[in-house]
Amino acid sequence: MGDEPTIFGRILDGDIPCHRVYEDQDVLAFLDVGPLSLGHVLVIPKERVAFLHELSDEAAAALGRVLPRIARAVMEVTGCADYNVLQNNGADAHQAVFHVHFHIIPKHADGSGLGLVWPAGELVQGETLAAALAEAI
Ligand code: AMP
Repeated sequence: MGDEPTIFGRILDGDIPCHRVYEDQDVLAFLDVGPLSLGHVLVIPKERVAFLHELSDEAAAALGRVLPRIARAVMEVTGCADYNVLQNNGADAHQAVFHVHFHIIPKHADGSGLGLVWPAGELVQGETLAAALAEAI
């Protein structure tokens, strides 16, 4: 991450307001300013890194601990039964704010929520290749 604070860094610094949903010593959650649906929440670590793979184990664990709790609260308050958790890394992967964040996006009966294109392939390159790939990763 560069020297300039991101918009989420500025929210953490208190320079920009947010509609806070949840906060503890490691995590802040707030309403997305451009919601895809009612109850669209962003969950961010206080650790200032751009990408998921840069997170410390401690920050990752703190996020993992609260994501289900915040999802339950979003479900209870908005009445949604379905939702997506989205986490983008890199501009080509639709990341616009370079501070790690998880979207919790309710899918409502009116169709609002995350629209997805999912061009699924097939893992047909042979057992050997798939096994080697899995092992390498
Ligand atoms: P992404 O494309 O995953 O980087 O998503 C960034 C998200 O941040 C978008 O959904 C924006 O609507 C949201 N966003 C940007 N600025 C703010 C802000 N000041 N307060 C709340 N959400 C914001």
